[in-house]
Amino acid sequence: MKIQRIEAIPYSIPYSHPLKFASGEVADAEHVLVRIHCDDGLLGEADAPPRPYTYGETQDSITTIIEKVFAPQLIGLDPFDRGKVHEVMGRTVNNQVAKGAVDISLWDLLGKALGTPVHKLLGGYTDSMRVSHMLGFRPAQELLDEALRFGQEYGITTFKLKVGRRPLGLDIEACHVLRNGLGPEVELYLDANRGWSANEAMEVLRRTEGLGLTMLEEPCDAKEAMSRRRLVEKSPIPIVGDESVPTAGDVSRELLSGGSNAICIKTARSGFTEAQQILGLCTGLGVDVTMGNQIDTQVGSLATVSFGAAHEATTRRAGELSNFLDMSDDLLADPITISAGRISVRDIPGVGAGIDEDKLARYRQN
Ligand SMILES: [Mg+2]
Repeated sequence: MKIQRIEAIPYSIPYSHPLKFASGEVADAEHVLVRIHCDDGLLGEADAPPRPYTYGETQDSITTIIEKVFAPQLIGLDPFDRGKVHEVMGRTVNNQVAKGAVDISLWDLLGKALGTPVHKLLGGYTDSMRVSHMLGFRPAQELLDEALRFGQEYGITTFKLKVGRRPLGLDIEACHVLRNGLGPEVELYLDANRGWSANEAMEVLRRTEGLGLTMLEEPCDAKEAMSRRRLVEKSPIPIVGDESVPTAGDVSRELLSGGSNAICIKTARSGFTEAQQILGLCTGLGVDVTMGNQIDTQVGSLATVSFGAAHEATTRRAGELSNFLDMSDDLLADPITISAGRISVRDIPGVGAGIDEDKLARYRQN
């Protein structure tokens, strides 16, 4: 089996409302669908969600790097020879999201070629993940109303609050209102997307003491190395590295320098192959991991579930899997359902992300 053709198809689907966080705002899912065609007719697919604010990749850069740089070097290779593919892509620095989508497309191909679901190839630990839902950047009462609705409608009992606003009191108030309104059993944790300084984060931790928050993600820029290390040492809860750790090398640096003591894994920026390397590092060192969301479509969310459900360590905490609910539509032919707070893997060969060709024709941009 040989790689015959690689497509990087830009498409755009509006969100039902603009999404805001400390590092930016987005109104449309301007993503890239990656398709790797093989000479025997098999097709591997994955979604690439560019995050210009976070990683500097855009829809155009992902399309160009895949079609102009990677494809000419990958065509003719056997998709099973992932080591060779990664050696080729590794010659180009950065471009993690483009590389991640090529990697997931290859796993999808392998699953289809072997007639096996990819979650089984990756590890096959279990068949579903608990869902964590993200809230944030709105008045406290609206956040509480949304959390209560998601609890009722989907059975979700874990919420990540997007914070990082100034003055700090807005987010601190939201923490108190959510805890009081949701009761003690619901899990709450925070993600500041580098919105604060390390000292501001310390103040938030002091003023939310006793609320039972379980984690604080990317409170400040990891480059503030000295004060971030002090925060990690003093914090009673894990400080999670997310956008500071897109690669296994970044994870090593942040863990060894004391810049984080828990790690967010995102398949959209690491693919499955590097995500497994990151997971191995973390489990070897006894460091907690979370499965994060890169504002993924349903196609991307299925990839996260396939990886997360495949390993024991990634199922200990709820995965951030519900961002697709903010989209007005999706490319996935058979929609994902959240039931009793969980999303299940698909027991069909590959990652399970069958594309609705009519929808792709409607939303594609070239
Ligand atoms: Mg994050």
